[in-house]
Amino acid sequence: MAKAIRFGIIGSGFMGRAHSIALHSVGATFGPEYHVECAALADVSAERASQSAASLGFARASNDWRELVSDPQVDVVDICTPNHLHAEMALAALAAGKHVYCEKPLALDVKESVAVVDAARCARVVNAIGFNYICNPMIQAARDLIRAGELGEITGFNGHYVEDYMCDPHAPFTWRCERRLAGAGALADLGSHLINMAHVLLGPIARTSGVIRTVHKHRTETATGKVRNVENEDIAHALFEFASGVPGTMDISRVATGYKCGLQVQILGTRGSIVFDQERMNELRLYRADDPVGRRGFRTILAGPEHPDYAAFCPAPGHGLGINDLKVIEVRNLLDAIRAGGNAAPDFAEGLRVQQVMSAIELAAASGSWVKVADVPGAQSPVNPR
Ligand code: NAD
Repeated sequence: MAKAIRFGIIGSGFMGRAHSIALHSVGATFGPEYHVECAALADVSAERASQSAASLGFARASNDWRELVSDPQVDVVDICTPNHLHAEMALAALAAGKHVYCEKPLALDVKESVAVVDAARCARVVNAIGFNYICNPMIQAARDLIRAGELGEITGFNGHYVEDYMCDPHAPFTWRCERRLAGAGALADLGSHLINMAHVLLGPIARTSGVIRTVHKHRTETATGKVRNVENEDIAHALFEFASGVPGTMDISRVATGYKCGLQVQILGTRGSIVFDQERMNELRLYRADDPVGRRGFRTILAGPEHPDYAAFCPAPGHGLGINDLKVIEVRNLLDAIRAGGNAAPDFAEGLRVQQVMSAIELAAASGSWVKVADVPGAQSPVNPR
């Protein structure tokens, strides 16, 4: 059996749990060569850390993430904490010579992201970021279809990532509402995934406009009962252009009534179109203009073993994968990069490119004019997304 890659995870909330499930599943799903050891878990208090380590199957627990980062028995530091801790933890892990797997967004802003990407380049370790939605077999199939020219010339992209988790005006004030802890609001939480998906499907975004709104301006903190100002946006819209010249639109909201995971993309081409909706994540809708007249219409392709990575989970078509399976694919990609001594995709450089686009949308919203992504202050020249 291959030597185990030893993971230390920081944070055991929503994502810490999803990462843990993936670490335990990756070997059973993709084979014994993906041998992982859940070595250590850190969280804010000793009690929370030891409870989470016990329930999520980690050998050691700590209330000090720095102890985990310097643990010689940890090969990969896996960061699943709120956004403001990503850069500090990633920089410490890179300085300790560890591979780093970090949740999105990479950092709070472009400046922090540049520092992390620079450190990762110097450290020459594998770095990966948690843009899990692009691991979906149907998104991989969509990308292959576009690259093969099956849609003809691409003429447009319309993307939405809309949810309603902050729709209720009485939903509490959390770290996600505070600039210092979250950075941007809906843009960082949801928009980052959509921008990454746009990059993967159609390449880099060159310039953008932006409109930003905070619908619910005050929320109450549960612990203190204090009414706090919401410091970032609930909604962001953008009309933008890819470097290829293809025009696009983005609609991002955390107050979109009725939508639970409305990550939707529509790609229009001269010979066909595709539509994907994460709430129906095992389906891809395809229209082909060269179907016979009288037989034209969108068909629904169900995910099956003929699509990338699906067969590792299930031999039967149409039975479907779930969100946690995307994390298993993401961890497999990270382990492949570690074993090959190469780089993961998406990596921190992609995290930076996404941050640059988010920042360009915010700057465009503030100025009322279009902003070139390459002109974002603090930005390095973008490397082409893979
Ligand atoms: P969460 O609030 O559920 O969990 C955060 C965890 O971090 C908690 O266990 C908390 O105690 C711990 N933590 C906080 N400060 C810490 C510290 N100093 N040391 C150690 N642990 C600490 O948050 P979440 O929803 O899991 O989000 C975490 C990250 O994951 C965020 O950056 C978020 O953007 C990202 N996220 C990604 C996805 C995705 O689809 N990829 C989905 C949700 C969240």
